[in-house]
Amino acid sequence: MFELNKDEILSKLEEIVGKDFVTNKFEDLYIYSRDPGASMPRPVDYVVMPKSVNEIQQIVKLANEAKISIVPMGGGLTLSGLVIPVKGGIVMDMKRMDKILEINEMSRYALIEAGVTTGQLLSHLNEKYPNLQPPIPDAPPSATVAGNVLIHGSGYLSQRYGDHGAMINGIEVVLPNGEICKMGSCAISDYWFSRGPIPDFIGLFISSFGTMGLITKLSIKLYPKHNFRDIVFGLLKSPHDLPNLLLKITETNLAEDILIGMQDKPEWMKGYIFIMTYITADAQEEIDRQIKVIKRVYNKHNARFMKAPPKMQTLYLEKPIFAAGAADYRKGGGFEYVGAFMPLEKVPEAYIKAAEISNKYGIPPTIGSRLMSGTHTIIVFFSYSFNRADPQDLENARRALHETNELALNLGGIPWKAELTGQQLILEKMDPTYKKLLKSIKGNLDPNGIMNPGNWEVN
Ligand SMILES: Cc1cc2nc3c(=O)[nH]c(=O)nc-3n(C[C@H](O)[C@H](O)[C@H](O)COP(=O)(O)OP(=O)(O)OC[C@H]3O[C@@H](n4cnc5c(N)ncnc54)[C@H](O)[C@@H]3O)c2cc1C
Repeated sequence: MFELNKDEILSKLEEIVGKDFVTNKFEDLYIYSRDPGASMPRPVDYVVMPKSVNEIQQIVKLANEAKISIVPMGGGLTLSGLVIPVKGGIVMDMKRMDKILEINEMSRYALIEAGVTTGQLLSHLNEKYPNLQPPIPDAPPSATVAGNVLIHGSGYLSQRYGDHGAMINGIEVVLPNGEICKMGSCAISDYWFSRGPIPDFIGLFISSFGTMGLITKLSIKLYPKHNFRDIVFGLLKSPHDLPNLLLKITETNLAEDILIGMQDKPEWMKGYIFIMTYITADAQEEIDRQIKVIKRVYNKHNARFMKAPPKMQTLYLEKPIFAAGAADYRKGGGFEYVGAFMPLEKVPEAYIKAAEISNKYGIPPTIGSRLMSGTHTIIVFFSYSFNRADPQDLENARRALHETNELALNLGGIPWKAELTGQQLILEKMDPTYKKLLKSIKGNLDPNGIMNPGNWEVN
């Protein structure tokens, strides 16, 4: 190890990426030291924006020598503080790695650099390959594909095909020692079409929040796109009827996506659970037939079919607005949510108890869910809005988020993209041997602890 002062580190980073793409100026660091959620700001020392894999390797080498940490960042939109450094150091903003390298129409995958945004990939496909669609979350379009799939993200294709992490075919990663490693079929073949059939280490990089290495390229699956899409809205009175209703909808094999929402604001939504079953087809007659089937399922299982005004239909076809919309009902417009992967049978209890938490802190209850892979997992979003300018309001939101993490774990669920305290709650419940394995893999891969230290830290 050699001692480098801050100016020397800055000038070495400038040598690697060029003066325009590194900064340690307070006014630049300000925005990187916070995110749109309820986390407290934390200090950042440098922001660097590499353009190539080689530059990333050089930065990793420097970080090892100077014992300074690196936090990889895509769009920085998780809301749970995952790209705000815990121990200072470099935020590596990946947005300049923005090339779409290949669209394989036959094997249906996109090979992209890690800074490609979800909006960029979607518009590229819409323009050039209108029959293919990528997995896209309901997050703002500046979210990166990598940042999303690397946290087990989900979107409108997840009901059919699983969470977005499951849609990764292969990755190229710069390991914490600076070596480049390809994983998946691309480790053997020119085609990035499959994850197997070899020992699968890709999972190690999913939901590890940048602690295991820097992903530079990835291949994700693409899916056929149908010409017609519609929503069948339903209303339910009791959350206890939800699991059975969802089982029955999925048994029809018609739903592309199923979203559920329960919120006290706006006033007209209060007291009901909203079900939105998205259907797709290549002809209007087929859509009409599917609507009839879904309506029948609703009627048989205590849900009322709701004829939605055309404006609402259009709005929700473009993008569901449950949680994000709820942020606007309070002054200040801040919101953060606990997303939790839950077993379906625990959803009614989760809805009831989370609404109690919201009411306790004077926050209008806002809960949403999306089915993933049929009913094998359901992701539940417990959203809390707050006024960022009011410290007490922010503190209430933080407490509500923490109690919701505990609730999810107590009910057998697992908080998703958990912030630091949530990660610690998960680690407390984790099988000790799994924890030992995690510590040992991390220690071997990253002996200097340069990759996003503080996250998933096993003591
Ligand atoms: C209004 C709103 C709606 C949302 N709706 C959804 C939704 O429907 N579905 C959903 O899944 N999410 C949703 N989100 C959450 C989140 O915004 C998305 O998951 C988003 O895609 C995250 O991508 P990002 O580029 O912002 O990731 P970031 O926040 O930048 O990064 C996420 C994690 O990945 C790591 N990481 C990023 N890039 C790399 C890399 N190259 N190598 C290694 N590690 C890396 C980061 O360190 C971090 O731990 C929503 C957020 C908002 C604000």
